[in-house]
Amino acid sequence: MIKIIHEREKCIGCGACTAACDNWEMADDGKSKPKKTELEEVGCNQAAADTCPVQCIKIEESK
Ligand code: SF4
Repeated sequence: MIKIIHEREKCIGCGACTAACDNWEMADDGKSKPKKTELEEVGCNQAAADTCPVQCIKIEESK
């Protein structure tokens, strides 16, 4: 399993992750949020993490 951790306090709401991956959307407060935080495969969330300018998206692998 893959766990997505979004450090929201660091998020600047640039929207890059939402462009990179359809698991990400903008929330009402102007910051992004992941639709799902537990996934079988990392998929495009890796691209979202890589593109984030403040590196506030972390991906953890769990058993
Ligand atoms: S790319 Fe990073 S800073 Fe930009 S909206 Fe997504 S999580 Fe926030």
